Amino acid sequence: MIIETGLSPTALAGFGLIFGLLIGSFLNVVILRFPQQLKDGWQRDSRDFLGLEPQPTESVTLSKPSSRCPGCGVPIKARYNVPVLSYLFLRGRCKACAAPISIQYPLVELLSGLIGAFFVYQYGLSAITFYSLALSYSLLVLTGIDLHEKLLPDQITLPLLWLGLFANLSGTFVPLGEAVIGAIAGYLSLWMVFWAFKLITGKEGMGYGDFKLLGALGAWMGWQMLPMVILLSTAVGAVVGIAGIIFAGRGRETQIAFGPFLAMAGWIAFVWGDKILSGYLAIFNL
Ligand SMILES: [Zn+2]
Repeated sequence: MIIETGLSPTALAGFGLIFGLLIGSFLNVVILRFPQQLKDGWQRDSRDFLGLEPQPTESVTLSKPSSRCPGCGVPIKARYNVPVLSYLFLRGRCKACAAPISIQYPLVELLSGLIGAFFVYQYGLSAITFYSLALSYSLLVLTGIDLHEKLLPDQITLPLLWLGLFANLSGTFVPLGEAVIGAIAGYLSLWMVFWAFKLITGKEGMGYGDFKLLGALGAWMGWQMLPMVILLSTAVGAVVGIAGIIFAGRGRETQIAFGPFLAMAGWIAFVWGDKILSGYLAIFNL
């Protein structure tokens, strides 16, 4: 299914870019506020379970309060809320208090914009583009949240898994059978690594969110891509981990979130997996 607009792919990509930039602004809000909402909820539930009085807190939602500077609390005016451009115009500092603005904001907006342009350019206004954007933006949000909070919320990983299966109900990316096996194999493979590691070392090397995320990736691209995702993510994770020990003087025991590596490796496999596989097979004349 493709909607014909009569626009050239380049013009469409321009719209994709603008759409992606705007979505990126929203993704930033989700990355910052959704974990806070979750924690508020857990705290309320815990106090309720323990029979304690609920604590009066200012509850945060995705829409309220409006964006404000984390340094001075001054609300950010709409004209300083333009994706990427505002950051450049303000030279990365709050207009009111000159506190530095996190590079995360323009970075997420820019990535989100490029992702929008990339898929719309390649696949036009189609179901493939819609699903690809849903996957990409979910992975971007999961990466941001895991970097901040070392947490991959079920509220994102599980719907992502179901959406992947749904997309493949009509074989959008892979046949449904490969997607179902991918979801199961993705979850189980990391689950087994987790327990092997725990039995051998007595430590927990990763979280259940990682299993769910790999399960979701399997649901989107089928079980055949799982070895590549695991190889890519562990390779990049190992390089970053070793670099951290050498350059940042981190201890060997420092925990780094594995989710961002899984998400990035998953995205690369989703977009270029077939090319990487065929190139690899060609090199070895298989
Ligand atoms: Zn400020």
